Amino acid sequence: MTTRRSFLKNLGAVAATAAIAPNMAFACKKRPQNDEYDLNSQHIRLDSSWDVIVVGGGPGGCAAAIAAAREGAKTLLIEANGILGGMGTAGMVPAWTPFSDGEKMIYRGLAEKVFKESLKGVPHEPKGKLDWVNINPEHLIRVYEDMVSAAGAGILFFSRVAAVEKSDDDTIDAIIVANKNGLTAFKAKVFIDATGDGDLCAWAGTLCMKGDEYGKVQQATLCFEIANINTQAWLAGPNLHSDNKYSPLYDIIAQGKYPDVVSHMCLNLIGPDVLGFNAGHLDVDSTDPWDVSKAMIKGRKVALEYHKALKEMAPEVFKDSFIVRTATSLGVRESRRVIGDYVLTAEDWNARRTFEDEIGRNCYYLDVHKPGFVPVHYGKGDSHGIPYRCLTPAGLKNVLVAGRCISSDSQVFGSVRVMPCCLVTGEAAGMAAAHAIEQSGCNVHNVDVRHLRSRLKEEGQYFI
Ligand SMILES: Cc1cc2nc3c(=O)[nH]c(=O)nc-3n(C[C@H](O)[C@H](O)[C@H](O)COP(=O)(O)OP(=O)(O)OC[C@H]3O[C@@H](n4cnc5c(N)ncnc54)[C@H](O)[C@@H]3O)c2cc1C
Repeated sequence: MTTRRSFLKNLGAVAATAAIAPNMAFACKKRPQNDEYDLNSQHIRLDSSWDVIVVGGGPGGCAAAIAAAREGAKTLLIEANGILGGMGTAGMVPAWTPFSDGEKMIYRGLAEKVFKESLKGVPHEPKGKLDWVNINPEHLIRVYEDMVSAAGAGILFFSRVAAVEKSDDDTIDAIIVANKNGLTAFKAKVFIDATGDGDLCAWAGTLCMKGDEYGKVQQATLCFEIANINTQAWLAGPNLHSDNKYSPLYDIIAQGKYPDVVSHMCLNLIGPDVLGFNAGHLDVDSTDPWDVSKAMIKGRKVALEYHKALKEMAPEVFKDSFIVRTATSLGVRESRRVIGDYVLTAEDWNARRTFEDEIGRNCYYLDVHKPGFVPVHYGKGDSHGIPYRCLTPAGLKNVLVAGRCISSDSQVFGSVRVMPCCLVTGEAAGMAAAHAIEQSGCNVHNVDVRHLRSRLKEEGQYFI
């Protein structure tokens, strides 16, 4: 039973993030404080040629862009980096979480299509494997590029949304994008916030949550790759993964020689003689650029320590190896979560709840990267629904949310944040954006959800 207290506790720190936002510089009419600056009024470029603009090209944003374009909307995908895929590529997360509930595939539609294409990049993986399949990030980048382009959506790289402009309290009129053209205002009928951090929604003043009741977010990881390993020796063992309580990792930790080597180490063979590592923990607030900068520098040092430790743990595997690269994007597990018309809770997860407006199912375990948290798993065949209302930000008419920043409490967030689920929410958000333009004067709250669900089913999505 969820009491009001435990509900609020699980929600996390509400609205801590909604107050001050970069767009203050544009909105500000009062006299600037010492640490504020008023822009001189200036004319900037305007691009108003789009129906739907998706911001953020991670799994959530890519699926949203494909779906919106496929429904006939003139769609633009804006990405701060020069590659698509977000954490799975720029962040170098080396594996998909399970696509099955232990009995059948449950993330279908576009998620299944992306997954199947990604398999071509890892021919060493067993045929028919659905769970914990390795990712070849360079291949996955092209999968996303090909699918977004084939759907007819435009892609704008190296362009960061830095502010939003509202026409009314509840409507985003334009987003302000910074790139090599300087500043450009982009208008669209509907915007999709797939930034992972809920940038658009927070800057538009929507209430967001961040972290747990104390505002503490899950720890981050800078992923890295080690090449020229001895694959035969690696396959022969020992099992180094931190899930194996007999892993030599724990002897190394006990020695205390490498203080940054901790009990988080996942390693995946992502190509011939190359291992992808999701290892180490960093405490960081990803909405603070200074904090992120420090974490990137620290993360590269952590990777170096892991490499030295690995050479001691399994010299026959790692003696000739080297770190090929660390990720260009910090592996941020959690930051803002946008408050929507419904907040998905850990109680929903526990109850395996089904919703009338669900647009997909999720079965991943409660995986919260914080000291002391004990993961909770489902049994075979178990899953819960993801309501459409988790994608519709409260108080904003023409904006949808896709990917990890959908409306969820801090615990269930540990489950719905993973890539298969982000692809599912992305597809639904993209489709709903196009439907909102056709049906409801761009009001995403009034979309015909029965029609949305039937279109998603036609495209192969799975839900009850
Ligand atoms: C270390 C780590 C390990 C993980 N392990 C797994 C795993 O094993 N398997 C799994 O399936 N999932 C895993 N996850 C979870 C998963 O990778 C992410 O939660 C998921 O990628 C989120 O998808 P997204 O589309 O919401 O955001 P992201 O993947 O974060 O993509 C957001 C995109 O938006 C862009 N962006 C952000 N802000 C702006 C802006 N203002 N303007 C323009 N562009 C912007 C970013 O550059 C990025 O490309 C892991 C996550 C981390 C961090």
